[in-house]
Amino acid sequence: MIAALIREQGGPEKIEVTEAENPRLKSGEALVSLRYASVNHVDIWVRSGAFRITLPRILGADGSGVIKEVPDEADVKPGVPVVLYPLLVDRTCRFCTSGREDQCENRALLGNQTDGTYAQLISVPTYNLIELNGIDPKVASAVPVTFMTAWHGLVSRAALKPGETALIWGAAGGLGNAAVQIAKLIGATVIATASNDQKAEAAFKAGADEVIIYTKEEVPSHVMTTTRGKGADVVFDSVGSATWQQTIKSISATGRIVLPGTTAGRETKVDLRDLYSRQLTVLGVYGGTKAELQSVLEHVRARKLTPLITREYDLEEAAQAHADMEAGRIIGKAVIRIPSRYSSKSPFFSCIG
Ligand SMILES: [Zn+2]
Repeated sequence: MIAALIREQGGPEKIEVTEAENPRLKSGEALVSLRYASVNHVDIWVRSGAFRITLPRILGADGSGVIKEVPDEADVKPGVPVVLYPLLVDRTCRFCTSGREDQCENRALLGNQTDGTYAQLISVPTYNLIELNGIDPKVASAVPVTFMTAWHGLVSRAALKPGETALIWGAAGGLGNAAVQIAKLIGATVIATASNDQKAEAAFKAGADEVIIYTKEEVPSHVMTTTRGKGADVVFDSVGSATWQQTIKSISATGRIVLPGTTAGRETKVDLRDLYSRQLTVLGVYGGTKAELQSVLEHVRARKLTPLITREYDLEEAAQAHADMEAGRIIGKAVIRIPSRYSSKSPFFSCIG
């Protein structure tokens, strides 16, 4: 099969699109012929060296495709289109058995601790297969990591309520865009941030009530004006060092900070008085449960939630996709098309499928 993999961590140029061995099926696993993958920041962290991983590693956490082989006892059959729940979980530990498989003691993320979706084939436990039931496979590939994480953060962890105000940083990114849509679905008032007019447009399209262009205007003072001095009930901050102080200045007393990652710096100063005297809650968020992903997909099926896909790349352009994402050139999500067949006779290889 053809796959996009890394043999060492570093810049986008470390991604090689090459022939790789077909995955070997373990007991209870299905073989999926992938059609689409999507690019997430976590793929970049894996590639660049933010995580220690074993090499070589096929990248990619998000993917959709068609079941090729499946154990006889499974309740799905070959030929069925599926999207993958991206976390591998043991389903037996104290977290899994108490409804928090997102924190499974033996958690692995596709494309991080195990080979991922930038490939023609992947083997995953049958538990990780979710039938598309009418969802476009390209759309589905752009859903899991971003929408599941945003849902886990806003719905399950922060319990955002109708009528509350949510401040969403980076609303033009895949995760921020998902967060804006979910916060609106809940019935919250959404204040989003973006770096320029074009990105602000994407945030408005996702349903934001107000968009602050943070390169032109101070975010905390805008939020305080909008909320009449009260502050946002929930702040969704996936940026990190660059935004933390402004998050603290923008949040209401007793507010909840949802922290699903750090795209711009992971260290910051914390004045602990802010946390105790104003009784703030910081909610760390990583991934989500399969049930949360299924809830999201129901809304995608009903067209209440729609990932914003603005860029498509062929598998052989995976390095370019990473470079564009790192440079902030991608609004919403980028998807990678996986060729269904290939010939290895051309100078490199040519896609037929
Ligand atoms: Zn577990």
